[in-house]
Amino acid sequence: MSELVTIKDKQFKPYITQQQLSEAVKKVADAINKDLQKELPVFLVVLNGSFMFAADLLKEVTIPCKISFIKVASYHGTKSSGTVTELIGLSEDISGRSVVIVEDIVDTGVTLEKLVAVLQRKNVKQIKVATALMKPDSYKKEFKVDYCGIKIPNDFVIGYGLDYDGLGRNLKEIYVLA
Ligand code: 5GP
Repeated sequence: MSELVTIKDKQFKPYITQQQLSEAVKKVADAINKDLQKELPVFLVVLNGSFMFAADLLKEVTIPCKISFIKVASYHGTKSSGTVTELIGLSEDISGRSVVIVEDIVDTGVTLEKLVAVLQRKNVKQIKVATALMKPDSYKKEFKVDYCGIKIPNDFVIGYGLDYDGLGRNLKEIYVLA
C-alpha cells in the first residue's frame, strides 16, 4: 500500500486497502442481489462522494435495476419552515418503487435522515440504504442502514470518493489523518 499523502495543509496515511474495499463492495452487492431480486430497484447515487463506490457496487449488482444520480441541497427557508431539503436531479418516477440510497459515508445520519424524509413524501414502496463506510459511534438516528461496507471509528477519512476541501476524491484507497 502507498505512503503518506499530503493534501493542502494535512497529511493522511493509508487506512483501508483496495482489497478490503472490493471485498466490502462484493458483500453489499451480494446482499442486495439476494434481497431485491424481484423489486426492480432504483439506485439513487448521492453525488459527489459516492461516485466511486457506486461504480464498483453497480458492476456487482446483477439484478435488473435503474440508476439515478442525485444531489441533496439544504437551505434555510423562512423561520417557520426551518431548513428545507431539496433533491436535485431526480428524473425517475419512483412512486411505488423500491429505492436504494447509495452513500459514501454515514456519520451522524443527519444528511441521510433529511434525504429519507424527502423520499418518503414521494410514496415509495420501501427505502434501503447502502453505504461504503459508516461511523456507528457517531450515528444518532433511528433509520436502519441496511447495507454497510465497512464500519470505522470516528476518524476523518478521505479517498475513494471522499474529499478534503474538494481534494482527494480520486485516491483508490481510504486514507485517515496522520
Ligand atoms: P452526516 O450527515 O451523516 O453526519 O454526514 C454525512 C456527510 O458528511 C457525508 O456524506 C460526507 O460528505 C461528510 N463526512 C462525514 N464523515 C466524513 C469523513 O470522515 N470524511 C469526509 N471526507 N467526509 C465525511
